[in-house]
Amino acid sequence: MRILIVEDERRLAQTLADLLEANHYAVDLSYDGESGLDNALTGIYDAVILDVMLPGMDGFAVVRKLRGESIKTPVLMLTARADTEDKVNGLDAGADYYLTKPFHTQELMACIRAITRRQTGVGDNNTLCFGDLRLELGSCLLLCGVKSVRLSRKEFEIMAKLMSNGAQVVTKETLLLSVWGYESSAEDNNVEVYISFLRKKLHHLKSTVSIRTLRMIGYHLEEGAKA
Ligand code: CA
Repeated sequence: MRILIVEDERRLAQTLADLLEANHYAVDLSYDGESGLDNALTGIYDAVILDVMLPGMDGFAVVRKLRGESIKTPVLMLTARADTEDKVNGLDAGADYYLTKPFHTQELMACIRAITRRQTGVGDNNTLCFGDLRLELGSCLLLCGVKSVRLSRKEFEIMAKLMSNGAQVVTKETLLLSVWGYESSAEDNNVEVYISFLRKKLHHLKSTVSIRTLRMIGYHLEEGAKA
């Protein structure tokens, strides 16, 4: 899963990024409201952590514009201010949750799990399920019955994206941006290579789930066929 952090206090932004990366999330950083909005408008993120007091455009304006463009990515707002009015403004603007600084990292992680769970269908025990597959988000283990394989970071991110979209098609471009990010020079065939690794792992697991290719478009999972 990929998280966007929009926070102008660079030390805090980096601390959050380190924490999320240690918990197997991919992270992009923006340090002001406008670039945060530009990034968030791509719709590739599973959640946005958004500070309220930002140079240029504040967090309320960012979330309002996002919702105005029908981007439904869950937004967790962060602020040093604990006024009830601010919380109401944030939630009215379209944020999903509100956390007041300073907060405990465990509380932040619980919030991230909660808001992404709603979005991506992550079930109890922090797992994603599709067909006979279970993907443990904490350990990057992909399980099928009694068999399991550990996925590499990129394999994990691709599989999580596919599983959270179920049978819906995920475009190659979405996979490239959400797994490799903007600044990467990765190309379509990087995606193809990892898809082939994943297919081998599905075969090893003897899963009935397979990854189908829609030529020139993308991939989706399908249940029932032998991998
Ligand atoms: Ca700030």
